[in-house]
Amino acid sequence: MSSTQSAEVVVIGGGIFGCAVAWELARQGMRDVVVLERENLGTQTTSRAASVLTTVTSQPAKSALFQETWSAMSALEEELDDSLNIHEVGTLHIGASKATAKSLDEHLSFAASIGEVAEELSAEEARARVKWLGIEDSARCVFLPRAGYVDSYRLATAYGAAAKARGVDFRVGVEVLGVSTRSGSVSGVETSDGFIESPWVVNCAGPWAGILSAELGWHLPMAPVRSQYWITETRAEFDAQQPMVFLPDVPAYARGEVGGLLFGLRGGPSPARDPRALPRDLSELQFEEDPSGWETLAVAGESFARFCPLMESVGVSHYVSGPSSYTPDGNFILGACPGVDGYLVASGCCGSGIAASGGVGRALAELITKGESSFDLEIFRPDRFGQIDAFDEAWLERCSATRSTKNVC
Ligand SMILES: Cc1cc2nc3c(=O)[nH]c(=O)nc-3n(C[C@H](O)[C@H](O)[C@H](O)COP(=O)(O)OP(=O)(O)OC[C@H]3O[C@@H](n4cnc5c(N)ncnc54)[C@H](O)[C@@H]3O)c2cc1C
Repeated sequence: MSSTQSAEVVVIGGGIFGCAVAWELARQGMRDVVVLERENLGTQTTSRAASVLTTVTSQPAKSALFQETWSAMSALEEELDDSLNIHEVGTLHIGASKATAKSLDEHLSFAASIGEVAEELSAEEARARVKWLGIEDSARCVFLPRAGYVDSYRLATAYGAAAKARGVDFRVGVEVLGVSTRSGSVSGVETSDGFIESPWVVNCAGPWAGILSAELGWHLPMAPVRSQYWITETRAEFDAQQPMVFLPDVPAYARGEVGGLLFGLRGGPSPARDPRALPRDLSELQFEEDPSGWETLAVAGESFARFCPLMESVGVSHYVSGPSSYTPDGNFILGACPGVDGYLVASGCCGSGIAASGGVGRALAELITKGESSFDLEIFRPDRFGQIDAFDEAWLERCSATRSTKNVC
């Protein structure tokens, strides 16, 4: 079919950002919202996430988005009358060296500043809560109860199901070929299924978002950079109800996953890609740099095993990798791009789009329904780096460096 159609808002992409934005638009009273997804909902970056949900970061503006996700998840469970199976197990932050022990002071004050509970535990208490953890008595341990993990695909499709129940029109298998403008304003989108007229377009196209933006004359300040994690064989010590553990000394994070231990490590290369070189289905993407993650394990595995002695005897059964869109400052890209009225972007997730999804959805919807957001979006402005060439080699390296120096992978 190819005919002229119209909508109040068109959302490009049915990953977790697109589904969350659509749900919030409907909650805030928009009746005529269309989501266009060329593959299937939640099947691209979203379904690859380790799905760690935290609330406390060094940026209050980012923490506010994370906190909103917890409210969104409660609202979704109520609206759908179904459990999302959220594992609210908390996070245990370990400071084993003097420097990382000291850095936990900052973490405690960030938590206090946004009203999140945090408690100091002795190393003995920490070991009692996390059976696989090997730490000295001198290690400093801080526990934050409001953190955990959820199946990211399930959360994305829950936003989608709740949006659909409120009247949002999801069109799967429809590709956006370009965003059209008239006299400096968005006029609609050209799709594989004809033109859809609309005064608002929200680009939630994940690691591909920059391609459509560049065609409009504004490069998004991000690049797809590989994120990765491993899952071990099962052991009784990796009980999924134990707290997640953040180990800035490695750096690494770990949590239980179907009887094994899911862990992310930093080490080895963090390759970035020109988004135009990504396949449209990420299951076809393989990074030729260390394709099965062994190089990173060789670099950082030993240091992780210091905190998880079981690593010496347990096998790794799964390796997962995929591109997350990184920006040089580690902040998201949220809001309007200069020069095109009615065009908004939600991308640059920097490996924490699941955790931020509720806040991102609400913030973007408010920009449309209220003309401004109740969240402080200043640090997320799409134009904060000025005009750049996001496909340039030096730019890709800059974005890769953000991931390579991230505190906890
Ligand atoms: C290995 C790994 C681990 C991660 N771990 C975590 C974690 O622990 N916690 C966390 O919060 N985050 C984590 N993330 C990040 C998280 O997965 C992302 O932040 C999030 O999924 C981004 O969602 P999205 O909707 O922006 O992108 P996507 O899920 O990629 O959705 C974008 C959608 O747009 C569609 N699309 C693109 N172009 C078009 C077009 N032209 N027309 C129509 N449709 C289009 C795509 O098909 C896709 O479905 C991790 C990511 C990876 C790769």
